[in-house]
Amino acid sequence: MKAYTYLGRGKSALTEKPVPHAMHPRDAVVKVTLSSICTSDLHILHGAVPRAERGVTLGHEFVGVVEEAGSALSALKKGDRVAVNVETYCGECYFCHHGWVNNCTHPAGGWALGCRIDGGQSEYARIPFADTNLVRIPAHVSDEAALFAGDLLSTGYWAAKIGEIHAGDTVLVIGAGPTGYCTALCARLRGAGRLVLCEKDAFRRSFANKHFPEAEIVSPEEALPLMKKAARGGADVVIEAAGTPESFRLAWECARPNAVVVIVAMYEEALALPLPEMYGKNLVFKTGGVDGCDMARVMEHIAAGELDAAPLLTRTFPLADIGEAYALFARRPDGVMKVAVRP
Ligand SMILES: [Zn+2]
Ligand SMILES: [Zn+2]
Repeated sequence: MKAYTYLGRGKSALTEKPVPHAMHPRDAVVKVTLSSICTSDLHILHGAVPRAERGVTLGHEFVGVVEEAGSALSALKKGDRVAVNVETYCGECYFCHHGWVNNCTHPAGGWALGCRIDGGQSEYARIPFADTNLVRIPAHVSDEAALFAGDLLSTGYWAAKIGEIHAGDTVLVIGAGPTGYCTALCARLRGAGRLVLCEKDAFRRSFANKHFPEAEIVSPEEALPLMKKAARGGADVVIEAAGTPESFRLAWECARPNAVVVIVAMYEEALALPLPEMYGKNLVFKTGGVDGCDMARVMEHIAAGELDAAPLLTRTFPLADIGEAYALFARRPDGVMKVAVRP
């Protein structure tokens, strides 16, 4: 089969690999039907993810059909349509029991797919702990609607959850790229009263305006004066999903005293925390890598029509043209939000 393989910093190619088989009783093999490209893949290709292994098949957000189910998987059978969790977690260790599945201590736990073990930019993928990490797609939900359940929407759901949003809160989400967009969808779901989405890119602002009319869409220059005028002098919850030094600063500046500031963005450099300037603001920072423990809930919300990230999918390529798909996603010209690959 063909698999899009990471070959070291800046290098990747479509290579030939054997079709995987279940190696453990909890493994399943999924025939991939649609797979997305994530910014984290680009971080791997930039050499910014040291634990990424050379030779690994990229891709950690995909949907498909169960081809083979290990002997311990009583609830899954060949032919089931499934979405895959970005984190293959064991469900049994201390961290999994607390829902901190990103920190699962099993060697194949946490974010391993498409990083340390072969992922989904391929015709087939082996999924460890498939009983916890595959979620069935209801018949009326399309592949496109289910595609973002395991990573983007799980990230947004988790970020909104740890943001401790109370009904009616003013929530500021910084960044209206795919992660910020999904986070804002989930913040609305979790009760945000006023939702402000801050984005510097004009195309992304117009995209959010078109697809998410309930949110106030502002530029970074507009965000701070607007939040200072908010009822309590700032946002009750800030979720930073943009990932630049400027957006990090804006996040805590826009927060009201005692607010929760959730850092979802993945930075490629170290940032300063100017504690003297923050003194007395008594902020709570929560930093992270998604805990994809609520994926089944996310799928329920998708099925109920309460979470719809499908508009983000703006281009789809056949697997043979995956190099072109990655190049387009890296350039991200106006008109492109998410790019997917169909084997
Ligand atoms: Zn991702
Ligand atoms: Zn675990």
